[in-house]
Amino acid sequence: MSTPDYDIIIIGGGPAGLTAGLYASRARLKCLLIEKMFVGGLVATTETVENYPGFQDSIKGPELIQNMEEQAKRFGLEIMTGDVEKVGIGENELRNVKLTNKELSWSCLIVASGTKPNELGVNGESELRGRGVSYCATCDGPFFKDLDIAVIGGGNSAVEEGMFLTKYAKKVYIVHRRDKLRADKILQERAFDNKKIEFVWDSVLDKIEGSQTVNAIDVRNVKTDAVSKLDVGGVFMYVGIKPNTEFLNGVVSLDKRGFVITDDEMNTSVPGIFAAGDVRVKLLRQIATAVGDGATAAFAAEKYIDGMNR
Ligand code: NAP
Repeated sequence: MSTPDYDIIIIGGGPAGLTAGLYASRARLKCLLIEKMFVGGLVATTETVENYPGFQDSIKGPELIQNMEEQAKRFGLEIMTGDVEKVGIGENELRNVKLTNKELSWSCLIVASGTKPNELGVNGESELRGRGVSYCATCDGPFFKDLDIAVIGGGNSAVEEGMFLTKYAKKVYIVHRRDKLRADKILQERAFDNKKIEFVWDSVLDKIEGSQTVNAIDVRNVKTDAVSKLDVGGVFMYVGIKPNTEFLNGVVSLDKRGFVITDDEMNTSVPGIFAAGDVRVKLLRQIATAVGDGATAAFAAEKYIDGMNR
């Protein structure tokens, strides 16, 4: 069998993928990281990171990720932009990834493709996407200066991004389907102290209204069924995440939500394919846990390649 193009191909350029790339490159393996859009994943669109150890006064998300990228490149990691459409694992052929216009073969694959935001599928959501409906506060927040806006959800993203949006908006409603937040306690304390935030408890989004841009939302109280209208110029959706694993269907075992199932060493159900970071089934999705996954996956891949060559 001919030599594959790369010892390791990593899919996804967030903290997990970049850390895998750093460790693999330092192990002197020929390693390529493929990123769909821009390196950084979710962190690149995070204003401030406060819970990644080592930065006493916090660090900007884009700065942290740029440091990770430069560090990995310094040891020889190759990075390319590309959209992986399929992973090939045919028995008697080279194992490969199929991109839009080429195929690249590997000895080991590390899937670190992260997640994307859930959509709710309510009326007006897709019609007004990009015209008041947003999934990224850092990207779109400045467009909502001095407007009233709504954030949907009660997790870390909703609360953190809701607070970020108060830098621009006149008022931020956080609409949550329960009367208790899922977000970390420290974020909750800050949000409750923020005068620009008003919580709308026990409520779900029924409809987004507007013709050219968003001008109101209908929210329904799940306890009383009463529907009320909030006049807002924008709505930010933070109702959870789903994994970027479409290209893996039928290749490795996924859970029912599509997250990759791994063991402690990041092995998937297929020998030689590993997964790291938010894309895999795990308890805690953080930068701190993603980098640990990335390091473990690269180390396990190195051992796998050693075994192949023995
Ligand atoms: P998440 O933690 O899954 O929270 C999603 C929120 O949306 C929950 O409050 C959930 O309500 C609500 N929700 C889900 N489906 C809904 C529906 N159909 N209608 C209305 N509300 C709905 O997602 P996330 O906040 O995007 O965070 C994703 C991951 O990244 C998490 O692991 C999170 O900890 C991590 N993260 C961490 C940080 C940080 O450490 N600073 C920042 C951002 C994200 P319920 O609570 O009722 O289920």
